[in-house]
Amino acid sequence: MKIGRRGFFKIAAVTVGAAGASAATAAAAAHGAAEDGPGVLVDTTLCVGCRACEAACAEANHLAPPPEDANVFDEKRDTHEQAFTVVNRTEKAPGVERFAKKQCMHCLAPACASACPVKAMTKSPEGPVVYNPNRCMGCRYCMIACPFDVPKYEYGSNAPRVRKCNFCAERQAKGLKPACTEVCPSGALTFGKRSELLEVAKTRIYTNPDRYLHHVYGEREAGGTSWLYITDVDLEQLAFRTDVPERPIPDLASGALSVPPFVMTLWPPLLMGIYAFSNRREEIKDAESAQGKEDHHG
Ligand code: SF4
Ligand code: SF4
Ligand code: SF4
Repeated sequence: MKIGRRGFFKIAAVTVGAAGASAATAAAAAHGAAEDGPGVLVDTTLCVGCRACEAACAEANHLAPPPEDANVFDEKRDTHEQAFTVVNRTEKAPGVERFAKKQCMHCLAPACASACPVKAMTKSPEGPVVYNPNRCMGCRYCMIACPFDVPKYEYGSNAPRVRKCNFCAERQAKGLKPACTEVCPSGALTFGKRSELLEVAKTRIYTNPDRYLHHVYGEREAGGTSWLYITDVDLEQLAFRTDVPERPIPDLASGALSVPPFVMTLWPPLLMGIYAFSNRREEIKDAESAQGKEDHHG
């Protein structure tokens, strides 16, 4: 089997994380717990392309407001560090438009979390996959590992972070819905328990067999995701990855390569060393400045 450069680094990145603490086992455990966690059902047949979800997301996450220009639909957009969700358009038939919102899928067994050597990206017990910038050492393995190409990096910043939708975890902790789902005016976004949304999705498909493709995107992709999509157009047309394997990526990576190449054996200790070194340097600096203050006052 020929593995391309991109594929190689995806597998390498995931295996780095898996090597540390049997991530596949941990991911499998998380899988069972999260299946009954929160989810969103996106019915693209109901989406009217108003992009209120983009604006609500930007406001909730203190991001730049999305462009108001309707020309944004002229090209396929991807999420970026100032847009955790974007809506794309395609033509189902001449003159018949379809739209779909994209954001982090909140995988049940997230490859990003599995690949992170310092647990900066984690699957919270409540369901959302969240990021802790204080732990992040900037290796960007999470970005390489994500099968949906979601996390983005603040390359232009002096203190860069990885950025992505966090499923409005803080809002959910307060009993609120994710901001995007709260404002959707057309019923295209339904927030609820993933297991129940899956039943709703299948019921809609079975009771309207001519209306929908017989596939719930996210039921099995990458081992299952908290966000589920039903649609009447090929999601690839809407800039979605449709080549994502069904097995959880951490499981795939754990047995994918028998000969660990350089990146897996030397990079992690090297990066961990740099990380520990810079943390230690900060600690020494803090201790020295505290000592200096004491000397000064004493
Ligand atoms: S979609 Fe990507 S970033 Fe989001 S949880 Fe899954 S692997 Fe992580
Ligand atoms: S859940 Fe929150 S962060 Fe994620 S796309 Fe919706 S509004 Fe944005
Ligand atoms: S708010 Fe709802 S209807 Fe409007 S673009 Fe977003 S998902 Fe579609």
